[in-house]
Amino acid sequence: MTAQDSSSWTLPLLGGLNPSTSKAGTNPGSFAMAPDIGGPRAFASPDTPGMPEPSGRTAWDFNPAPRPLEECVTQLEFARHGVVTPEMERVAEREPHLSAEQVRDEVAAGRMVIPANRRHLAHKLDPMCIGRASRTKINANMGASPISSGTSEELEKLQWALRWGADTIMDLSTGGDIDACRSALIQESTAPIGTVPIYSMILDCKIEDLTAEMVLANLEHQAQQGVDYFTIHAGVRRAHLPWVKDRLIGIVSRGGSLLAKWMIHHGRDNLMYEIWDDICDICRKYDVTFSIGDGLRPGGLADASDQAQLAELATLGELTERAWAKGVQVMIEGPGHMSFDQIEYNMKVERTLCHGAPFYVLGPLVTDVFPGYDHITSCIGATAAAYHGASMLCYVTPKEHLGLPKAEDVKQGCIAYKIAAHAADVALGIPGTRDWDDELTKARAALNWQKHFDLAFDTDTARAFHDEDLDVDTDFCAMCGHDWCSVRISKEIVEFTSGKEEEFAWDSPKISEALTPEQREILEKRGVLTPAEVHRLATKTRVSVGTDDDGKATCHSDHVDSPHAHQIQAEHVTD
Ligand code: SF4
Repeated sequence: MTAQDSSSWTLPLLGGLNPSTSKAGTNPGSFAMAPDIGGPRAFASPDTPGMPEPSGRTAWDFNPAPRPLEECVTQLEFARHGVVTPEMERVAEREPHLSAEQVRDEVAAGRMVIPANRRHLAHKLDPMCIGRASRTKINANMGASPISSGTSEELEKLQWALRWGADTIMDLSTGGDIDACRSALIQESTAPIGTVPIYSMILDCKIEDLTAEMVLANLEHQAQQGVDYFTIHAGVRRAHLPWVKDRLIGIVSRGGSLLAKWMIHHGRDNLMYEIWDDICDICRKYDVTFSIGDGLRPGGLADASDQAQLAELATLGELTERAWAKGVQVMIEGPGHMSFDQIEYNMKVERTLCHGAPFYVLGPLVTDVFPGYDHITSCIGATAAAYHGASMLCYVTPKEHLGLPKAEDVKQGCIAYKIAAHAADVALGIPGTRDWDDELTKARAALNWQKHFDLAFDTDTARAFHDEDLDVDTDFCAMCGHDWCSVRISKEIVEFTSGKEEEFAWDSPKISEALTPEQREILEKRGVLTPAEVHRLATKTRVSVGTDDDGKATCHSDHVDSPHAHQIQAEHVTD
């Protein structure tokens, strides 16, 4: 390519409209919108042609009978009075790019929720927020089924989910001692707990026997226990059901299918819809946030964005308005399964119909043919969803559609979704989010392995994978070996800054601690290597290649020239 070729394109403005994804600056070509905290397009992707405009209304437009300050209970009610609550203060601490006043204003507008039941606040709950102006959040589902698990296993999963970054937890138990399990999770969790209350309403009866009194009693009980948000499938209307008959897989939401059965049996509209105002009153009393369920979400690509799904979404908008009028915080649940090209539209039609209430989506899975890997198929959709407007991503584990997730599945699901959320936040230009990436890049460029691993989200796995083939922290790794290590070569070339930042430099090669028992276990769980193989690989380099007193491998460039190093590796490391 000649210098003349460069005139055939124009680089976008440095950072475009978006001032920064790191604290210090940005790279050329950022296309995200300018941050618009305080507006409906806060950290939004630019709209491609044909996308629905944001609603011109907010929660302020649905506040017909403001309560006096002394009667306020919910974060929304306090925000409407201009009060910054301790929970808003804490949220601002956890979102360094937001002030407590901005948090309050976003809550007042209905674009942000702080799911914090007054009862759960009395335990260990650490208040967090969900909304476009904040970083993207992830939810981890757990819960015993009638076939498998119990309270102690669910508590173990809770700890794993929190360890691996879940921002909220949903207890979807349908078996075991549901009440005790829920209570234990609430007491132990620092993150908000959500439930789908209908599951426990029909433990001792058939769905057809469910009454308004039973629903309200159960909701009151769970609210008293301290549940922070309820998924209520009130948006599935009787009039929507005929649109489901042409679907390939009908109604895949458990709550949606149960309530459809109830409606057909009774020849009436959705019980939850009929008593919505009474449900709102219970939620307001404890400040339980709504996560209004999408009972007609698509269960396969073929059923996505159909009339049933979108008609229900319009009803969710109506329910949002009614909940806001009652002073209750609202988020909206979304799909599901959906081809990649439909995701932006779905995110943007929600902001129109539901007036910017935070969108909480399940994936979506962008293809249906990879069971066993749906944490990956859905994490691709989740990244697009977060970029285009979703505020929280409900994780999907490798067990989706196949079985009840175990602790390791919880970890895999959480990590896939942390990747989606972080990738979207960086692309949206949420201030400071790229700093972490830049720090790791500097450590990688300096071949500072320990710093590299310390900065990695999953330090142990990164270390274990490195040590699997080469347990000496030297100036290359087992991927390319000494001669082919471009990072090492770049470091030597004086023209590049690459790998030369002072604080990232490291004194000398080190023998790593090799595989600790925990790391060995991680490798075992990968299901690729037997423990004996892992152990053999972990110590292979040191044993076969040998090291000097300082721990430098015999193939290190301090000892041998390149041809010799290459020979040693060929003979020993790669056998
Ligand atoms: S050997 Fe290859 S993979 Fe390893 S650090 Fe060097 S360039 Fe990167």
